[in-house]
Amino acid sequence: MSNQTLGLDDRLYRYLLDSSVREPDILAELRQVTAQHPMAQMQIAPEQGQFMALLVQLMGARKTLEVGVFTGYSALAVALALPPEGRIVACDVSEEYTAIAKQFWQKAGVDYKIDLKLGPAADTLEQLIAAGNSETFDFAFIDADKSNYGTYYEQALQLVRPGGLIAIDNVLWSGRVADPGTQDNRTNAIRAFNDKLYQDERISLSLVPIADGLTLALKKSL
Ligand code: CA
Repeated sequence: MSNQTLGLDDRLYRYLLDSSVREPDILAELRQVTAQHPMAQMQIAPEQGQFMALLVQLMGARKTLEVGVFTGYSALAVALALPPEGRIVACDVSEEYTAIAKQFWQKAGVDYKIDLKLGPAADTLEQLIAAGNSETFDFAFIDADKSNYGTYYEQALQLVRPGGLIAIDNVLWSGRVADPGTQDNRTNAIRAFNDKLYQDERISLSLVPIADGLTLALKKSL
């Protein structure tokens, strides 16, 4: 028995997958297609997709936000968990990656739930704020360029309602955040971001060591 979070070796990780992950066929197929892609490691893990789907169900979320779509796995996992009237505003800069995403959203029959906004996410989020969408989103997932995490987080915090949740991916960054010898820009950006959230009294937080680290930030009701 251990009261410290377990490091998962391959055997234990396989057990976790085999004994708990109920990945729908359409998500498994998207995973296979994305595995051929040179940037395949940008896709979230299946247990993380299932975890986020559970969060969305737990909250009874209707209106959600995604910053960083890639080939669409996380948006599809969330869309499948949303009720028919649920909607996702999904932001990405890549027409190439999101072409795969759109194909799978259509195939899954949930494309009507997903409003893809191509362009810099900070601009899209600013437009949403300007259009009066502040405090209307239930859930937001941030998984994009790490140097802009601070900006996306501030915008998402404005867009989610009190009691709304922001999930931020890759906060453990393959462990590099804890290695003092690693001082590249992206690692330092994630360190600074983690410090910022730790100090932020506007949220309740939990850093969940699932996959590459997922911080959950719940916007407090003031
Ligand atoms: Ca990620």
